[in-house]
Amino acid sequence: MPAVLPRFCGVMPLAMMLIAVPTALGQGIAQQNILQAFANEKEAIKVNDHIYQASGFSNTYLVTTSDGNVIIDTSTSAFASRHKKLLQAVSKAPIKYIILTHGHPDHIGGIRQWRGPDTEVIAQANYPAFREYHHRLMGFHARRAAAQYNLALPVTLSAAEELLRPEYDATITFEKEYTFKLGELTFELHAAPGETQDQLAIWIPELKTAFLGDNYYETFPNIYTLRGTEFRSPVLWIKSLEMVRSWHPDILLGSHVAPIKGAKEIETRLTNYIEAIRYVDNETVKGMNAGKDVHTLMREIKLPDELKIGEQYGRLTWSIRGIFDGYVGWFDEQPQTMYATPASSVHADLVELAGGPDGIVKKAREHFDSGQLEETLQLLDVVLNPEPTHAEALKLRIETCTLLNSRADNVIEQGWLAEFIRRDERALKALTKPAKKRSRAS
Ligand SMILES: [Zn+2]
Repeated sequence: MPAVLPRFCGVMPLAMMLIAVPTALGQGIAQQNILQAFANEKEAIKVNDHIYQASGFSNTYLVTTSDGNVIIDTSTSAFASRHKKLLQAVSKAPIKYIILTHGHPDHIGGIRQWRGPDTEVIAQANYPAFREYHHRLMGFHARRAAAQYNLALPVTLSAAEELLRPEYDATITFEKEYTFKLGELTFELHAAPGETQDQLAIWIPELKTAFLGDNYYETFPNIYTLRGTEFRSPVLWIKSLEMVRSWHPDILLGSHVAPIKGAKEIETRLTNYIEAIRYVDNETVKGMNAGKDVHTLMREIKLPDELKIGEQYGRLTWSIRGIFDGYVGWFDEQPQTMYATPASSVHADLVELAGGPDGIVKKAREHFDSGQLEETLQLLDVVLNPEPTHAEALKLRIETCTLLNSRADNVIEQGWLAEFIRRDERALKALTKPAKKRSRAS
């Protein structure tokens, strides 16, 4: 694959990048590369005497008890057979329960491999609606996720469709809490909306262990992600994390992170994470009430040094915009925004007034040379909207995206920039192709 994939596969905590890539994309396309990144895991990680982790696109956990086993999340179907092999090497006792921390395809894709005729599958009550949402928008998300995660196209949708089949249904759902005992262990399940509205967190008091699905990463979260999501309420996300913190776990297990051990370490990490989200949420709301527009807030709001937790996956600016739009929607108090005619409708006029596209491209080049890369992209858009095949503009946009990509440490930004470069290279290539000879009949 192009440059991006190996870069993030090499950074193991960032294997989480592939979270929620619809399985439709993951299967048989770039998944081979991703599978390779985890090929060295020859045995499951022993977390404690009862819990084992198989790592991958997302983790699968096995919890053993004297009365049968529990599986927590099932990864993608492409990973499930390897995970099953690793975890069955630990225990082949029957799987009494599968618990799904949420309905993203990289958590439910392996259900079929684990599910027996008597296995209960437990999910939060919003799980069916969440799967339905994904199903309705699978064409949109397939295209966006392919770009975001730098996967090859074309994409087949059959696997995404498959996720709606009854084998993926839960047999038990709950609104707020659900507790069961198995052998010597108690499993307390709690609704924990955050990354998704069907997210749940699990507390096993005997082991002082908490599972929190995708509500914690080792970077700032995607309160909004570019592939497109429903509103991810920071207020609910914070409450869910505060709930987990109040359990004072000794072990914290997430779907895309290595096991975190030690009550003090967990307390510190969760607190920093909570406070980082809270800070961004509060500052956004404060700015909104003060009448600031979304772009001003995207530029102005920065995390204080003590709360900087990295932006390799989530990005502050996208989250600020996601919070702003999530609370109040898209209207920006400008008359032209009320109507269906976009800014691009007058780009041709601007090009004409500038005496043609070349002068604008020259100005864009000046911005590029002085390091104003975002302004460069804005000016090139003025040219490329009315004239999508302007070669110099395409070349400069490729240069700009390449430079931005070389500086980016966020894997999603890298994925999109690589996609934009590919698109413009295709357009350039089409320009240089010799025109086909006309057939005699035409
Ligand atoms: Zn997820």
